[in-house]
Amino acid sequence: MSQATDADDLPPALRAATTLVLATDLPTILLRGPSTVVLHNDAFTKLAGPPQSLPPGRDLRDLWPAWWTLLAARLERTWNGESSTAIDEPFFSPPKGASVAPRALFLTTTFSPLRDESGTVAGALLTVHEVRPSPRPLSPESEQARLLDESERARARMLAELSAERERLRILILSMPAPVALLVGPEHRYELANDAYLQLRGANRDVIGLTLAEAFPELAGQGIFERFDGVYQTGVPWTGLETIVRLERGDAVAEDLWFDLRLEPVRDIGGRVTGVLVLALDVSNQVRARQAAESARTQVTTILESIGDAFYAVDSSFRFTYVNRKAEELWGRRRDDLLGKHYWSEFPAAMGSESYHMHHRLMAERRPLHYETVSPLIGRPLDVSLFPAEDGGLSCYFRDISERTESESALRRSEARYRTLFESIDEGFCVIELLFDDQDRPIDYVFIETNPAFVRQTGLENAVGKRMRELAPSHEEHWFETYGRVALTGAPLRFDAPAEALHRWYDVFAFRIGDPEERRVAVLFNDVSPARTASRERERLLSVAEQARAEAEAANRAKSEFLAIMSHELRTPLNAIGGYSELLESGIYGAVTEVQRGALARIQRSQRHLLTLINGVLDFSRVEAGAVSYDVSNVHVAEAVAEAESLVAPELRAKGLGYTWAGAAPELAVRADHEKLQQILLNLLANAAKFTYPRDDLPARIEVSCEVDDAGVGPGAGPRGRVLIRVRDTGEGIAADQIERIFEPFVQVDQRLTRPHAGVGLGLAISRDLARGMGGELTVESTPGEGSVFTLALPKA
Ligand code: ADP
Repeated sequence: MSQATDADDLPPALRAATTLVLATDLPTILLRGPSTVVLHNDAFTKLAGPPQSLPPGRDLRDLWPAWWTLLAARLERTWNGESSTAIDEPFFSPPKGASVAPRALFLTTTFSPLRDESGTVAGALLTVHEVRPSPRPLSPESEQARLLDESERARARMLAELSAERERLRILILSMPAPVALLVGPEHRYELANDAYLQLRGANRDVIGLTLAEAFPELAGQGIFERFDGVYQTGVPWTGLETIVRLERGDAVAEDLWFDLRLEPVRDIGGRVTGVLVLALDVSNQVRARQAAESARTQVTTILESIGDAFYAVDSSFRFTYVNRKAEELWGRRRDDLLGKHYWSEFPAAMGSESYHMHHRLMAERRPLHYETVSPLIGRPLDVSLFPAEDGGLSCYFRDISERTESESALRRSEARYRTLFESIDEGFCVIELLFDDQDRPIDYVFIETNPAFVRQTGLENAVGKRMRELAPSHEEHWFETYGRVALTGAPLRFDAPAEALHRWYDVFAFRIGDPEERRVAVLFNDVSPARTASRERERLLSVAEQARAEAEAANRAKSEFLAIMSHELRTPLNAIGGYSELLESGIYGAVTEVQRGALARIQRSQRHLLTLINGVLDFSRVEAGAVSYDVSNVHVAEAVAEAESLVAPELRAKGLGYTWAGAAPELAVRADHEKLQQILLNLLANAAKFTYPRDDLPARIEVSCEVDDAGVGPGAGPRGRVLIRVRDTGEGIAADQIERIFEPFVQVDQRLTRPHAGVGLGLAISRDLARGMGGELTVESTPGEGSVFTLALPKA
């Protein structure tokens, strides 16, 4: 025996037949088209002799040429699906060796086509039965004897043929590894069934002798009986691939099984169908496996279609085997156009790109790869994952990350900006994480991040990762409480506070950042110790000045009181001096000589002068002490000015000074105390007269004028505006640096002891106080060498 090809290459139908060829005693050859000998058994070699040669093609024509000549025509028909039997053919077997003469044989040969699952003829089985004729009578003595012999031979041939056929079938069936059974008659009664077939019905339950319906009652209603009937009645074979059959096995539990069923009619010599040969291949496992694979594939497909990532798979030669919806979208290509096509010929623009190299690298290395690249196909940044696939190809997930990269780079940019800001600002900056006890009381904090200014501002080096209490154990409790509050409430705080442990004073802005659960606080702070020290110094100086002022005021008050008392006490003896000198002069105490009279007159002048001074001091001290009361009424301006002028007229005349009054409406009046107004005007006119001298360049004179300011919002204005009374002179004027000082008490511009003017420097101080006391104001403008203008502003009546 000899095998032509590797059994694994054979279709299942031929593989099953090889077992038969090897097992049977009948000379048998298995052929595949058109004339290749797959296998022959020892019985055949015994009959036909060893093959003449062993050519590579194993062609029957070369192996046993004589047999080819005998069988060629019928073999041809077998390939067309026809079985044939040639009965009792004479055959001259070629010599098996040199010494043996050719011998005549009578052969019954049967060709059976072997079909694969799809029903096409995959092979031919040739069985040979040698018919040995009974010895021929030496002489044909009678016709009867000859006829008898003829019929004897025919019967023997028939029997031989029949037994050959049956044997062939029996062996075929029993030796098949697939479940095969022969059912005969219209009621399909089991005549033969192999072990594999019996397994279908459960262990140890023989079916021989039963009808199909008796053996498998559960098949009723499943259309199987009808198939058997059909084949039996029409003689047309039937193939049902993956026919689903519900069987009740030994334990009577129904089970759905899938069979590749082949029903083959079996005919007798006359060609009449006598039975049905059934081949029932249980393919349930394959079907289930395939269904599982299909459902897995459907699942995978569903997933691949619904994921947000684009996905495709290519085989080992980069042909698309899968493209999901998202990939279609991104590429703008329909998957039907891509499937089966070559990646690089469909997307030539991608050749040489990073993806191109990565795809080839994966094919070489067979390990997953992940990368980001800008797609040359759609010009957008992609995130790509490649995985090796079992079929030698690869699968690829990719997604458009334009938005992500844009927001990432925006984030990076703004991060860089803020980073630079925090690195470069002079303010200290840190992020801290608050630590709380069980009752949510802040107990400490850890530095998460600090900027360079932090070290300058605190003197704490390498603070990150450390706790404040370990860096500065005596840090005040209020810091922890304040930051704890910010961390818990999220309300930002601005405050300044000392940090004694760091010997500084900080201006702080603290705000919560990140998730509230993180309990992180960002702190922006500035060491304000120097400013703080300066402001404390300022406060100290201010309070010193304040104290000095209070002391000075107290002293001033004491002085005023002293002056008031003094003046009063001085006035009494002065009045006595005046009174007694007048009495002496009147001669009450005796005659007065001319010399004495002159002395008395000098005493009286001095007494009057002294009295004027004392009265001035007394006035001022009264005004200063707030002891002056004002009797305010409407005072006519023209009258008040005329009255004052009459009092200074003698002095004006004596000095040869001109005087003009510009005039005013007679009814024009101011709100004032008549006496006090007189005192002010008199003081201004007296001063003007005192400090003005006849001069060569222009006439020396005093002008009094008056102006009504109805708008009256300036100093001295009443509800109806104000009246400005001006006293102008052409006198010596007042230097700019002295101009405000002249309103201070006891200030005189000319401080020489031998000054030519009388006075104590109280007139203007008193006048301004009086003007202000009536709701008015007294101001001055002056040009040294040209003259001065004093302006009294009073509320208009
Ligand atoms: P007294 O006239 O008693 O010195 P005042 O208070 O009236 O005191 O004046 C203070 C000073 O203001 C005067 O000593 C003088 O120096 C200056 N003064 C006042 N009026 C005039 C004026 N019309 N022209 C120049 N200087 C004046």
